[in-house]
Amino acid sequence: MLRKWFAIPLWQRVIAALLLGGLLGWLWGPEAESIKIIGDIFIAFIKMLVVPLIFFSLVSGVAAIGDLRKLGSVGWRALLLFIVSGQIAVWLGLFLGTVIEPGLGVDTSAIEMGETPSPDVKTFQEMILEIVPASPVQVMADVNVLPLIVFSLLLGIGILMAKEEGAPVQRIFDSGSVVMQKVTMVVMELTPFGVFALMAWVVGTLGLDAVAALAKLVGLNYLGCLLIIFVMYSAMIKFLARLPVRDFFRGIVDAMAVSYSTASSNATLPVTLRCAERNLGISNSVASFVIALGATINMNGTAMYLGLATLFGAQIFGVDLSWGQYFLISILGTLGAIGAAGIPGAGLIMMALVFGAVGVPLETIAFVAGVDRIMDMMRTTTNVSGDAAVATVVASMTNEIDRGEMISADDV
Ligand code: ASP
Repeated sequence: MLRKWFAIPLWQRVIAALLLGGLLGWLWGPEAESIKIIGDIFIAFIKMLVVPLIFFSLVSGVAAIGDLRKLGSVGWRALLLFIVSGQIAVWLGLFLGTVIEPGLGVDTSAIEMGETPSPDVKTFQEMILEIVPASPVQVMADVNVLPLIVFSLLLGIGILMAKEEGAPVQRIFDSGSVVMQKVTMVVMELTPFGVFALMAWVVGTLGLDAVAALAKLVGLNYLGCLLIIFVMYSAMIKFLARLPVRDFFRGIVDAMAVSYSTASSNATLPVTLRCAERNLGISNSVASFVIALGATINMNGTAMYLGLATLFGAQIFGVDLSWGQYFLISILGTLGAIGAAGIPGAGLIMMALVFGAVGVPLETIAFVAGVDRIMDMMRTTTNVSGDAAVATVVASMTNEIDRGEMISADDV
């Protein structure tokens, strides 16, 4: 029995869990909340991996790149792709919102208002200061991913600069990184159970009424995200990385399912890393660098949603927006997506940043809060798939991908 279970590829078990969990939630209703604990345990286990995995694999990855010039060539390509794809995503959201006008004719009285989350908008100076790892231990204890990346990068660079004398430290990190990959493998076996419970909980507690009232917005959010995933990312894989699109998606199915059910890029990070290295054949150095950075700053689903939701708010409250304001939204939407943490509901909070700048009432946030989770799941899947797509393109451009490995991804 146990042998039969393990004989089924993990991604198939995860997809089955996603569907069965949704079905159970639909049949069981709000009571399904009682099994959410299984999902919470799963999330706690993957969160446990985030800090040691980034720390060991990023330091060992940077050191493995071998020289500083090559590190730079990976870095600028990744950043450029993050920014360009983010811009395309916000404009897609603005386009869908303008053409389909999801906010017109919405009966606001039919919707139960949620709480308006307090906007935690930081100044530029504060944002910069926050990425400096003043105390590396504190940063690890707080699971603060961006400064952790900065610290790990510096440590890796230090090893490169120390040459022979750095070799013993490099070996410790190489070995730690292999060990953490094994630990990840064990935790990944919990994925089907976690995904099952989380899906049952979301579908069971959300209720279809709330979704129906905001159906157009929810539908457009899904449409926009699907276009980004299947058109933009497919084009990136086909034309920039010159790799088979189908194998790319097959390789990241686990990460897509985990991001969909957890709605957190950070929590999915260990899974995305594993998919990138094991199923796509991306080298450890590029995968850990690009994906760890991407999980925090590359959020195309969130960027698209910020554009769309701003138009939605403007339409329900009758605010006219000029072309100049569209441009402002596109810039703030990209910045908001960069600033949003990879945790559930982060995009909702970032709406305050964009709304405030173009005069859309903050009440819109309370208005959509009830159905945010179901939209967040799709945004996060888009964000995580984007990290894998950028890593694949960068790896292919810098010859850091084992093409044979990716194409023979039969046993994922
Ligand atoms: N939950 C998303 C993520 O982790 C961010 C968002 O709320 O849009 O990627």
